[in-house]
Amino acid sequence: MITADQIQALINHGRTALASTETVEQFEQLRDHYFGRKQGELVKILRSIQHLDNVEHKRQLGALANNAKQELQQLFSAWQNQHHHASTTLVPDVTLPGIWPTVGHVHPLRQLQEELVDIFYAMGFMVMEGNELENELYCFEYLNIPPHHPARDLQDTFYVSGDDQGVKRVLRTHTSNMQVRLMQQYTPPLRAVVPGRAFRNEAIDASHEHTFYQMEGFVVDENISLGNLTYFLKTAMSRVLQSDVQVRLRPGYFPYVEPGFEADCSCTHCAGQGCAVCKYTGWVEMLGCGLIHPTVFASAGYEPGKYTGFAFGMGLMRLAMLKYNIDDIRLFMGGDFRFIDQF
Ligand SMILES: [Zn+2]
Repeated sequence: MITADQIQALINHGRTALASTETVEQFEQLRDHYFGRKQGELVKILRSIQHLDNVEHKRQLGALANNAKQELQQLFSAWQNQHHHASTTLVPDVTLPGIWPTVGHVHPLRQLQEELVDIFYAMGFMVMEGNELENELYCFEYLNIPPHHPARDLQDTFYVSGDDQGVKRVLRTHTSNMQVRLMQQYTPPLRAVVPGRAFRNEAIDASHEHTFYQMEGFVVDENISLGNLTYFLKTAMSRVLQSDVQVRLRPGYFPYVEPGFEADCSCTHCAGQGCAVCKYTGWVEMLGCGLIHPTVFASAGYEPGKYTGFAFGMGLMRLAMLKYNIDDIRLFMGGDFRFIDQF
């Protein structure tokens, strides 16, 4: 007479046998052994249960046998899933070429940023990305741009709802927001570059974007002069543009420097001879710079007159446009792979 132990043994045996089954032939043999319509083990068990007299016995063993059948079916289909080819006679053609996954690469602006960071890092500058969500004090007030100062009109600002301890929050309009933060944190001598994104509410055209990439740089020490500024600019620009460029300073206005300058580089496309890129002047406008305004040092809490320093802020997109001869700023963030994949 059939027993519960025998039914359990059937499952155990099935599991062990499947584990050592490797070929489709073995699998099919085993399947017939269990599920065969006439001589299968399960059929035999069900048949012998049918002939039992004791109704209670019949019911218990019947339930066990049904469970065993289900469990074995699951074991068999698991084996089939694992050995996918078992369910089909198709054999994969291993000589077919595979499908290569698309491999991305670093965005050209990021490449340029990393190149610049390496150059400045080698010259002893620390690198800080800083926060993109800033409060008005660090973005404007501390940099000598008080409320209602006309300079704020130059930087159409995205204001963000909520405040930072009572101070309005903005998306930083320049990476200069880190100047006073770093000055408060470190004592001079101080050399730092701040690469990152900045945001302005611009009407977008071939040379304006609402999100752009800047690199702020500044040096604070005793006796820093314009000579130091031009040295660092000339060295950095020559390295990144891979040619010996000249740097020219023209007076320019930025509230956080005094005196302030627009710095031009000699055109690398025509070596200063005049071409379309430099609008036939031989010079290309590169960045704004100057000597750090005493008000900025006061914001940082430095002793008046003790330190001097220079600061510059360059647009990475403008630099990339010059370096790679690109005429439309919108290409950088347009997401067109035909453009991006050229770098
Ligand atoms: Zn030129």
